[in-house]
Amino acid sequence: MASAIHLVKGREKSLRRKHPWVFSRGISSVDGTPELGETVDVYAHNGEWLAKAAYSPNSQIRARVWSFTKQNIDVDFFIERIQQAQLLREDIIERDGLTGYRLIAAESDGLPGVTIDRYGDFLVCQLLSAGAEHQKETLVKALNHCFPNCSIYERSDVSVRKKEGLEERTGVLFGQSPDEPVVIEENGVKISVDIINGHKTGFYLDQRDSRFQTQKYVKNKEVLNCFSYTGGFGLYALKGGAKRVINADVSQLALDTAKHNAELNGFTEKKKAVFLNADVFKLLREYRDQGTKFDVVIMDPPKFAESKAQLNGACRGYKDINMLAMQILKPGGTLLTYSCSGLMDGNLFQKIIADAALDANRSVKFVERFEQAADHPIDTAYPEGFYLKGFACKVL
Ligand code: SAH
Repeated sequence: MASAIHLVKGREKSLRRKHPWVFSRGISSVDGTPELGETVDVYAHNGEWLAKAAYSPNSQIRARVWSFTKQNIDVDFFIERIQQAQLLREDIIERDGLTGYRLIAAESDGLPGVTIDRYGDFLVCQLLSAGAEHQKETLVKALNHCFPNCSIYERSDVSVRKKEGLEERTGVLFGQSPDEPVVIEENGVKISVDIINGHKTGFYLDQRDSRFQTQKYVKNKEVLNCFSYTGGFGLYALKGGAKRVINADVSQLALDTAKHNAELNGFTEKKKAVFLNADVFKLLREYRDQGTKFDVVIMDPPKFAESKAQLNGACRGYKDINMLAMQILKPGGTLLTYSCSGLMDGNLFQKIIADAALDANRSVKFVERFEQAADHPIDTAYPEGFYLKGFACKVL
């Protein structure tokens, strides 16, 4: 008999609303001794069957729902979810000419803990939950069925796996090793992606729409692209006719790729694209103290808040860099600023920008809002899937 978990009275409510998480404090008893990631049946206090979920004995999120209908969690189940996810993305793949996109956005695509990004003929998996890890072989079979020509590589080298009792892992799951970087295309821009050494699965696909919108703010402008990584925003700025783009990052590997990306797209004019190995916090202060000014500043920092405990510190960090960015903008300049910290909601981020404006003593107007691209969808049942926010601000 399959193992099962029984919920405390009232704890079935969120599952009835199709939210996929069961917290440890919401469980009254467990039948059997389910192993790490094993599929269990979930029952309400009154004995009603609710869902099939993956059991995670070490995590506060003790179970993550695979399905709210009685079905086997097998290859066919994964094939169906993958096909649905692909179907959901067909229109933007076509519209934006994508050869790189997020195929599976975990909970938002009904596969908790499973992230899969596609870069050309490579599928790169990041498995973050015990259930995802437990189903790895089945998942690979399903991907094989759906994408027979694609190799599959794992980039599960993320520390959150510890919470689930899992070690970090990387390596080939099927087919070829991505030893050479893969060149993907989005909106006619070519981007080289280093699957083995890059951040996360190799590239920040989620910022595609914001990168695209950058083009309309940059014609003949001097642009500073902070936290450039492999130059994504910088490439679109050049495409949009920027006079000059300075890309700043602390990762030399990322900057080397950024330079290569500029060449791939024919932006070879030397002084137009600059690649600066610098700590953005220091660089912004130097520019301010020297009186160096820009027309456009792009501010896309890494996630500052990984947990609630870090949120206050993160707020200070966001305020600091945005204040500095405002201070080095010419009057009428544009700040394109983002936060990928899911714990910071849009209202809080807006307040932080407002505080930064006060400290910078500048008048600042919000003129456009940005969100994660549509291949990072937000399921109505799982609002936590909304994490990436941004603003275009005019700074007087
Ligand atoms: N804007 C990028 C993604 C940025 S990811 C894109 O669209 O692809 C965050 C980047 O910030 C990483 O490349 C990381 O190397 C860099 N970084 C982190 N801390 C930094 C610091 N203090 N100064 C400069 N770069 C930093």
